[in-house]
Amino acid sequence: MMEKNARIFVAGARGMVGSAIVRRLQQEGHQNIITRSSKELDLRNQAAVDTFFEAEKPEYVFLAAAKVGGILANNTYRAEFLYDNLAIEINIIEAAHRNGVKKLLFLGSSCIYPKLAPQPMNEEALLTGLLEPTNEPYAIAKIAGIKLCEAYRSQYGANFISAMPTNLYGQGDNYHLENSHVIPALLRKFDDAKRSGADSVEVWGSGTPLREFMYVDDLADACLFLMERYNESLFLNVGTGEEVSIRELAETVKEVVGFEGELRFDSTKPDGTPRKLMDSARIHALGWKHKTSLKEGLSKAYGFYMQEHGLD
Ligand code: GDP
Repeated sequence: MMEKNARIFVAGARGMVGSAIVRRLQQEGHQNIITRSSKELDLRNQAAVDTFFEAEKPEYVFLAAAKVGGILANNTYRAEFLYDNLAIEINIIEAAHRNGVKKLLFLGSSCIYPKLAPQPMNEEALLTGLLEPTNEPYAIAKIAGIKLCEAYRSQYGANFISAMPTNLYGQGDNYHLENSHVIPALLRKFDDAKRSGADSVEVWGSGTPLREFMYVDDLADACLFLMERYNESLFLNVGTGEEVSIRELAETVKEVVGFEGELRFDSTKPDGTPRKLMDSARIHALGWKHKTSLKEGLSKAYGFYMQEHGLD
């Protein structure tokens, strides 16, 4: 049980996931939430991380810090994605162990699974096949994070756990047109089209791929749930178990934004993998479920998009 005055370090508190965890902790009345921007504390710097842990002595750690990006960034900055993410993980996990952290939650991603993993992807599919080459460096770093938590548990008895969220969206997302994921890209494209009076919006690919999406506040809720109740070595998937085609997604975004024109599917752009769904049966069996429907989440995300960009 995390006491309300427990010292809780949220690594990556400026990011979409970390900031959602901070909001959720505040909602629960936690009073001792410790955060640092990357300027204040470079998590890739081992000496700096050690000094920080020795001074602050956090009791709980949410490891939501990572170098992230879309397919283009992942593929271009392969060395940075591998080095930065590995460095962040080894520095924090070792410092957490040496400074007696009571519990640590490490966050990964669905890209840890083999490219051709059977769908829906369950936890046992890890390391059963080759990864998607474009984000292999990121995935290898995230797999190393899972293995670090498992190894520190088995060798030292550390209570370090891992959770692998599905595709996330929401407050504080990245709305870059080329580098972002599909939801922020579509929110922005439909909003731009509505404002400019365009009669159509371009959607990449065929519209047939199936994806699973979760509102980031639901992930934050799952993180607190696991921090309070889950103490096993096995990492857990965190998803909704619901999938939607890109066409249905685009129709829903269109409705949420209030755009009146047409969808235009651009078949020169890639579809990517035809289906990407996580098997979240394990976390569901523990009694956790997401709360936000896709439509509700998209409305909230759209509100934050406008707020963050000074639009109304
Ligand atoms: P993925 O889940 O790793 O494939 O990542 P994305 O979120 O980038 O893409 C998901 C699906 O949405 C793919 O089939 C894309 O072709 C499709 N898509 C449709 N329009 C867009 C868009 O404007 N941006 C992005 N990123 N994807 C889009």
